[in-house]
Amino acid sequence: MDITTSTSLAKMPCTILKGVGSSLQAKLQKLGIETIQDLLFHLPRAYQDRTRIVPLRCIRPGQVVAIEAKVKSSDVLFQGRRQLICLLSDGSGFLTIRFFHFNRSQYNNLKTGFRLRCFGEVRFGKNGYEMIHPEYVGILDDQPASVEEYLTPVYPTTEGISQYSWRRLQSQALQWIDRGMQELLPPNLLQKFKFSTLKETLLYLHRPPPDAPIQLLIDGKHPFQARLIFEELLAHYLSLRKLRENAKKHSAVVLSAEGALIKKFLQQLPFQLTAAQQRVYQEIADDLLQTHPMMRLLQGDVGSGKTVVSALAVLHAVSNGCQAVVMAPTELLAEQHLKNFKQWLEPLDIKVAWLSGQLKAKERRETLAIIENGEAQVIIGTHALFQEGVEFKRLALMVVDEQHRFGVHQRLALREKGYHDNQYPHQLIMTATPIPRTLAMSAYADLDHSIIDELPPGRKLVTTTVLSNNRRNDVIARIRQACHEKRQVYWVCTLIEESEILQCQAAEKTAESLKQLLPECHVALIHGRMKSAEKDKIMQDFKAKQYDLLVATTVIEVGVDVPNASLMVVENAERLGLAQLHQLRGRIGRGSVGSYCVLLYQQPLSEGASKRLSIMRKSCDGFVIAQKDLEIRGPGEVLGTKQAGIVGMRIANIVRDQYLLPKVQEVSLEIIRHHASIIPLLEHRWIESAEDYGRV
Ligand code: ADP
Ligand code: MG
Repeated sequence: MDITTSTSLAKMPCTILKGVGSSLQAKLQKLGIETIQDLLFHLPRAYQDRTRIVPLRCIRPGQVVAIEAKVKSSDVLFQGRRQLICLLSDGSGFLTIRFFHFNRSQYNNLKTGFRLRCFGEVRFGKNGYEMIHPEYVGILDDQPASVEEYLTPVYPTTEGISQYSWRRLQSQALQWIDRGMQELLPPNLLQKFKFSTLKETLLYLHRPPPDAPIQLLIDGKHPFQARLIFEELLAHYLSLRKLRENAKKHSAVVLSAEGALIKKFLQQLPFQLTAAQQRVYQEIADDLLQTHPMMRLLQGDVGSGKTVVSALAVLHAVSNGCQAVVMAPTELLAEQHLKNFKQWLEPLDIKVAWLSGQLKAKERRETLAIIENGEAQVIIGTHALFQEGVEFKRLALMVVDEQHRFGVHQRLALREKGYHDNQYPHQLIMTATPIPRTLAMSAYADLDHSIIDELPPGRKLVTTTVLSNNRRNDVIARIRQACHEKRQVYWVCTLIEESEILQCQAAEKTAESLKQLLPECHVALIHGRMKSAEKDKIMQDFKAKQYDLLVATTVIEVGVDVPNASLMVVENAERLGLAQLHQLRGRIGRGSVGSYCVLLYQQPLSEGASKRLSIMRKSCDGFVIAQKDLEIRGPGEVLGTKQAGIVGMRIANIVRDQYLLPKVQEVSLEIIRHHASIIPLLEHRWIESAEDYGRV
């Protein structure tokens, strides 16, 4: 290949670099690196400062520094375990270096009088400052002290590629940077945001000068980084927007509502819709009148009343002789929907069918038959609904609950399943993870958004206390008092192991011991291994105040509504995530009296758990809790998807870099209007699965 012509770096394979044979090539490929351009976009994840030697009198614990000093003494000692300990001095101060693993030649080298340069983290040890297993090289006495010219980049890597190899590869790659490194952002944009050129940026980030603000770089907040992060976020955002535009080109059945049916439905509800529910319903109704499929995300905190809104959408499908499915991620959630929809829709002569993975063969056959012949108008189930060769007569609407557990690709796959007669079903996606708005708009840029930002009237704030397990007796006293006042109580046992059986056994034991401790209370037990009918009976009896105290596994996380229950104790609360704790706590605070939640924990408490419990204590606001959850766990965990478009970003971190999102959204409009040709180039540069996106 003639590499002297203006071949774009995007086409130039890494194999032209010295040292890249087939084995290294394969390892690079694993990281998605094929070309010189890919390599240059593989940016450091951290930096070290080896540009200056720090005098020992200036070092502080926690710093990662280069020092130069002479060995004053060197010994192999047993201090718990065998170790090589050397005391160093540079005339200004002292430092101990410690090796737990060392060989004979190291031992022989690190002798008194030996001069060396070390690099490592300073910590505070038994005898003053020390470094454990520092990197070091020996220095001859007459050798002038030479230091690195740039901050040392540390690259994200994979097994078998050392930092040394990365630096060698990058320094070769940088020599090509003048050849065809394509600037994708239009000049007016670069100017507007005062962005540096791509070349400047890459040179700086691979080789920051000694005076570069190292902490800013490590935090990913340097303007040069921000410029690239901006570009990456833009690529993802544009790509999701394109998905959405493409969806608009598809056609769907227009679902107008039969006014009388809607009216009847609303009349029989025991409550009035909140203003927020009405507004959101209107947004959905407008969508359903379009000739292209609705793709709408409905956000709303636990208990905000999303289900009833989705039922209204379902009525639109039914009004037009079409079918609707309502899908939940777990059997329990799906069962809860089944109960609600039957209760609401059967009085209106609408046939609601249940399709779960656990149906018996005969029931299943019958259900499949009525789904196929159209007798079943509304079908409720888990997502197994779509994996089992179900044939719909005329599916026009899909309601997907708890969307955050599914990703972009699943969303697309689902839509394909509903494809029929050149038409796609409308999609309403509901999530109780109240993702901060700007973040949601980016992570789900392929969807329209509606938010129920108001709870039904009468919900009370819950006062939350966090108590160590050794205060259990106080808690028991509190329960006794609550029962005495005829208020009801939940006691939630959390997962012991990843085993439902063990969890249920633990709940049984707890129920037994609480019965003994509280002989005057009526105690019931509910757990996931009971039959549905059995669970229903207990819940109904609890609601009818036949029990004072309900010991439960986390099955009550969903859908149970008992306004008189105003105290909840969560055992081993430290084991649960924020989202789950928030869901659980949403079960109380529904009545007219003040509610209390006691989070019991087992010591010792990890730092993460302690943070979570303190957040729960301070806030009842689902949005605040979700934001903290994102900060602690990161978007991949919370949004529940490893899909490109949300995570799988190379340098951007959608939480850390949230501040850029409004700009990204603004700029994307301009790009779509005036620079559409760069969109595929941006996607190609930044998105691994760009090809997959292109197909849909
Ligand atoms: P989520 O948004 O968490 O799915 P649900 O749809 O399960 O919430 O609603 C929670 C509870 O609030 C249910 O018992 C439901 O019947 C009730 N509810 C819904 N809307 C209203 C309203 N406007 N007024 C009073 N109660 C309502
Ligand atoms: Mg719900």
